[in-house]
Amino acid sequence: MIGLLSEQSMNGRELSKALGIREREVYDHLTHIARSVARQGKRLTILPFQCMACGYEFKERRRYTPPGRCPHCKKGHVERPAYSIT
Ligand SMILES: [Zn+2]
Repeated sequence: MIGLLSEQSMNGRELSKALGIREREVYDHLTHIARSVARQGKRLTILPFQCMACGYEFKERRRYTPPGRCPHCKKGHVERPAYSIT
């Protein structure tokens, strides 16, 4: 997963398909990966993503799981965030 995310940004569903694991497990792994790349002086970044209903932009999300609902319009049509290692 570290190799994939060092080369390109991918979201939870793409990672789940590429690695043959459940999307739920992808998010667990991301937390561990964030720690191990930090030791190498790198960062696992969550790219800005939007609510598809109102366009609200999520800029400073700390958790790797996608939000279930938009805090602005309260709808559940939120885009999956993509991650990359930089
Ligand atoms: Zn919204």
